[in-house]
Amino acid sequence: MKELVVISGKGGTGKTSIVAAFASLAKNAIFADCDVDAADLHLVLEPNVKQTSDFSGGKQASIITEKCISCGKCKDLCKFDAINLDGPANDIVAKTYTVDPVSCEGCKVCVEFCPADAIEFKDSINGQWFISETRFGTMVHAKLGIAEENSGKLVSLIRKETKRIAQEQKNDLIIIDGSPGIGCPVIASITGADLVLIITEPTLSGKHDLERVAELAAGFDIPVLVAINKFDLNPDMAGQIEEDVLKRGIKVVGKIRYDKAFTKAQIMKTSVVEYTGSAVTEDIKALWRNVMYAI
Ligand code: SF4
Ligand code: SF4
Repeated sequence: MKELVVISGKGGTGKTSIVAAFASLAKNAIFADCDVDAADLHLVLEPNVKQTSDFSGGKQASIITEKCISCGKCKDLCKFDAINLDGPANDIVAKTYTVDPVSCEGCKVCVEFCPADAIEFKDSINGQWFISETRFGTMVHAKLGIAEENSGKLVSLIRKETKRIAQEQKNDLIIIDGSPGIGCPVIASITGADLVLIITEPTLSGKHDLERVAELAAGFDIPVLVAINKFDLNPDMAGQIEEDVLKRGIKVVGKIRYDKAFTKAQIMKTSVVEYTGSAVTEDIKALWRNVMYAI
């Protein structure tokens, strides 16, 4: 079983559309959406959710109103300004303290020092993850709560579960829609994968972002390939990118022309390959063949 991770230097390069097209071309594959901060593979693959689980990225404090004696010690100690005197009355005091879950960083200091043993320390629910069926096979994906962090931890969880299911189902290939950028989620997306495919665009910012992400991937001792989306919008820049990455020992294995079919397919909730048999589909098929040859 092989694991292919598709990433990009930044969002909006067409990465997810290409992953969706790969899904429609793959045989006996399983898919994972590890772009958890902007998950949209489900918009094309239209998963039928079979199992939903909560994701906990850490622990948080919460005050038990009935026990609070309103001494204010927790508020004084909290470095994150997460505790306020805005709770209801109880049998002892007219007002109690509460924890703001958005500000609580889970340091546990308040829990340790509360004289009334009034503070609980429980798993915080930061999102949900799903095992679903799609028309191309099983998909594992997630929804992170608004402004939640720990997406690297969620990415690792999704990859682990995808691998477990792939082993059970005897899938030959795992295709991962990885996180963009160079932060913790992308590191969690590519660690231990068999092949990384970077999608880029022929723009100056695309070139810079590609350099940064290629540098990051190089540190992981994983084979890296590049595909240039919309290459014909700036063939000179596409050529420059090809030359640049070659100097790093990375090959451009696909060039996909600009085609409005990409957007139209997205609107129709289909992959480009399902939507049209035109030249752009041939570009994607050629890229797919090259990637499958390399993995
Ligand atoms: S330290 Fe405990 S008893 Fe004191 S205000 Fe905080 S929660 Fe209430
Ligand atoms: S766990 Fe830490 S951050 Fe959270 S409320 Fe208590 S002292 Fe503040």
